[in-house]
Amino acid sequence: MKASQFLITTLKEAPADAEVVSHQLMTRAGMIRKLGAGIYNYMPMGLRVIQKVEAIVREEMNRAGAVEMTMPVVQPAELWQETGRFEKMGPELLRIQDRHERDYVIQPTSEEVVTDVARQELRSYKQLPKNLYQIQTKFRDERRPRFGLMRGREFIMKDAYSFDRDEAGAKASYQVMAAAYRRIFDRFGLKYRAVAADSGAIGGDLSEEFQVIAATGEDAIVYCPASDYAANMEKAEALAPAGPRPAPANPMVKTPTPGKSTCADVAEYLGVPLATTIKSLVLATDELNEAGEVVKSQVWLLLLRGDHDMNEVKVGKVPGLDKGFRFASIPEIDAHFGCKPGYLGPVGLKKPLKIVADREVAVMADWICGSNEPDFHTTGVNWGRDLPEPDLVADLRNVVEGDPSPDGKGPLAIERGIEVGHVFYLGTKYSKAMNATFLDTDGKPKHFEMGCYGIGITRLPAAAIEQNHDERGIVWPDAIAPFTVVVCPVGADRSEAVKAAADELYAGLLAAGVDVIIDDRGERPGAMFADWELIGVPHRVTIGDRGLKEGMVEYQHRRDAAATKVPATEALAFVKGRLS
Ligand code: ATP
Ligand code: MG
Ligand code: MG
Ligand code: MG
Repeated sequence: MKASQFLITTLKEAPADAEVVSHQLMTRAGMIRKLGAGIYNYMPMGLRVIQKVEAIVREEMNRAGAVEMTMPVVQPAELWQETGRFEKMGPELLRIQDRHERDYVIQPTSEEVVTDVARQELRSYKQLPKNLYQIQTKFRDERRPRFGLMRGREFIMKDAYSFDRDEAGAKASYQVMAAAYRRIFDRFGLKYRAVAADSGAIGGDLSEEFQVIAATGEDAIVYCPASDYAANMEKAEALAPAGPRPAPANPMVKTPTPGKSTCADVAEYLGVPLATTIKSLVLATDELNEAGEVVKSQVWLLLLRGDHDMNEVKVGKVPGLDKGFRFASIPEIDAHFGCKPGYLGPVGLKKPLKIVADREVAVMADWICGSNEPDFHTTGVNWGRDLPEPDLVADLRNVVEGDPSPDGKGPLAIERGIEVGHVFYLGTKYSKAMNATFLDTDGKPKHFEMGCYGIGITRLPAAAIEQNHDERGIVWPDAIAPFTVVVCPVGADRSEAVKAAADELYAGLLAAGVDVIIDDRGERPGAMFADWELIGVPHRVTIGDRGLKEGMVEYQHRRDAAATKVPATEALAFVKGRLS
């Protein structure tokens, strides 16, 4: 590829709404352009990354015996009514009507359609097992589309669905997929962890998420460094002993002032002791623009734990809900809220607030935080309709760093991750709802045993960047870089020798099947290097007059602090040797 022919549209500044580094860098590198809330153009540079991700996924899915097909983006509502999800799924499901006022959905996933395919096409046990997959556009009307491709509304997913004769077969198919996922994520060259996830109503342990480790991840991962135990927070909490931990004795507790609502009242309201272990409560105020996009988030994290009482509630101000928490000191908090030294509160908030427990949300109005001084306390706790109060209370369980792991092999550690893949054993949930059967060996109809397996194709590049970047830009792993090598001639317009050497190396790399781009745009060296460092091409060869006079060119990996001189005659072999 010649850079002059390609579309390179780098930017000096990131858009104001880009909160996380992957969103900033993908936009600055010209990989994506926003078209609407959670809706993006995949620009040529970004599409190349997406296509490399797809190619790896496709190769490994095929290797694992899955079969590719494509199901429509627009799907008739009737199928979704069969499983009840047309009504049940809530506002994330985008429902549309055609000119005849017939209902459709834009697929957020495809269990219904693929189960319909199976009940029509898979008639006999002889055709089983089968695993059908697609790499296809999805739409989910996310409550908070944000972070660019990380949580878009329109995005690309690889979704696969397995069909088996019986439970044992389905579980074997699940294991085949779990193994394929490990190969896929190994090939991406990212640090990731497979964690146990909640399998919801299905029960059992056959649900795992593949989490790319990154401080900005939206999910908390609980793992044991001394064993291979790893689970997402929901799952870890489901395994943890129920209810709040025993509270230490606390001589500081004061009696609530009548007419005011104190910390104690809040604790009572939540049904937990005042000195207690409950999960972090995150208070978030979102400022929305007319399109319903979040333009500003103010987030306060209240961490309430067993070894603290409400006198010592820690409040952390974090710039985005899931960007990791910075805990402020009590004096800092007092100063921020303008209250007496040593006291937390009052936090007068005029606008309605959302209160978030983990990721579930209830709405509170006029919430005022309190200290334990009479007349200095909280007021007006009103639970809203997004989340019924009992669910929140049931959710107030905590797993903290240092807790014993369920396998008893050591203390737990917690880190953050980005969910890029999910494998799930479904059982007969969909086949029963849609009466999808095949004829078994005994000639009798039997419901398919199913599993479903997703990978966030467009989320993956964002996750890769969260994990691999520096102050100059992106650092792509070779496997998913938009180009593997960039050849940068310096002063090719003035020097025939430079142009000839660059063209020769470019041609040599092309002939060797290397994904190479030559920067023939005639940019100044500084601007040229800044572009490629921002875009994150892992290998760069610079060819200039001065070096060539000594018969040398310069090679630099994106992670190298300095360039390495390489004899021009050996450049091709040298670069090939550096590719992973
Ligand atoms: P999340 O917990 O992040 O909302 P999910 O559990 O709802 O994701 P799944 O239904 O498991 O997602 O879908 C499979 C994969 O699709 C996810 O593991 C993730 O990588 C990707 N994905 C889900 N929602 C989005 C989105 N809004 N934007 C980009 N990728 C997404
Ligand atoms: Mg989701
Ligand atoms: Mg999830
Ligand atoms: Mg999931």
